[in-house]
Amino acid sequence: MSDPAPMAADGFARTPGGAVVMDGNRLRDEIVADLARTIAAAGSPSVCLATVLVGDDAPSQRYVRNKHLQAAKAGMVSRNEVLAADAGQARVEEVVAALAADPSVHGILVQSPLPAGYDEEAVLRLIPADKDVDGLTSESMGRLVRGLPGLVGCTPLGVMRLLERYGVETAGRRAVVVGRSMLVGLPLSMLLARKGVDATVTIAHSRTSDLVEVCREADILVGAVGRAGLITADHVKPGATVVDVGISRTAAGVVGDVDFDAVQAVASRITPMPGGTGPMTIACLLQNTLQAARLQGAFGP
Ligand code: NAP
Repeated sequence: MSDPAPMAADGFARTPGGAVVMDGNRLRDEIVADLARTIAAAGSPSVCLATVLVGDDAPSQRYVRNKHLQAAKAGMVSRNEVLAADAGQARVEEVVAALAADPSVHGILVQSPLPAGYDEEAVLRLIPADKDVDGLTSESMGRLVRGLPGLVGCTPLGVMRLLERYGVETAGRRAVVVGRSMLVGLPLSMLLARKGVDATVTIAHSRTSDLVEVCREADILVGAVGRAGLITADHVKPGATVVDVGISRTAAGVVGDVDFDAVQAVASRITPMPGGTGPMTIACLLQNTLQAARLQGAFGP
């Protein structure tokens, strides 16, 4: 990634090509500080996030550590249930069921992916919708589709927060989301198409033909694939907003789906990788935890 240029008059850093850098670290810090103020102003009631980590996958351990670090900054309590990779389905389900039944726990996140051999769906089914801070259960997805109040996945929510914060127009605009997973692509497409957001959304995937042409129609282009550098300058309409969700670990470090150096010269706004959507996922996890406490009547309106 190229070094961002100095701040412009609007307070937003720009790339050498002039694109506004959609800074996820900065917005995460704003959101966490806001959560800390809200919780302190309510007399610091206990708002508790519980994570369940199975196995010793290093990136998963790092993600969970970061979640707890930011939870503490937000004035939240957090618990981490750590289980050996061979703990077994029954033990994992027992731990999740206990958290589900514990009224002092407001949000439950099972760090994905579980090691091979586990039935993730069976574990998710044990999480009550009002504690489902990852927004992944069938009940949460159903609420999203039906437009009912509920908890929405942290990564798609984080993308929406970035678009709002950086003043990206969505109504009547064309959005293309590359990737159709339950975790990112599908819920994000629904959020973009929702009444009030009003983008016209195309979902692209591995079987999409003419991906370049499809992407070039986008005013808002999101890469949620996990293929390093898949989205090049050719995929981007001049002036488009480009959001990178994909994460690939390469010899050069963590890189996104977007070829940042080439695309920043064409886009009007762009997320860095790292430092874009990743920190926003954690910020939205904490916002979801406070919302979960509200849904359970454990925090004021
Ligand atoms: P996933 O379940 O593997 O889904 C990937 C999607 O990309 C699938 O829909 C797949 O299409 C599509 N795809 C694969 N190759 C493609 C190609 N050549 N052209 C177009 N589409 C293609 O992954 P995920 O869980 O959604 O995660 C996507 C990426 O985001 C991963 O790199 C993950 O690590 C990252 N991630 C980042 C954050 C964050 O906070 N930034 C959070 C979560 C995940 P098919 O459906 O046809 O297979």
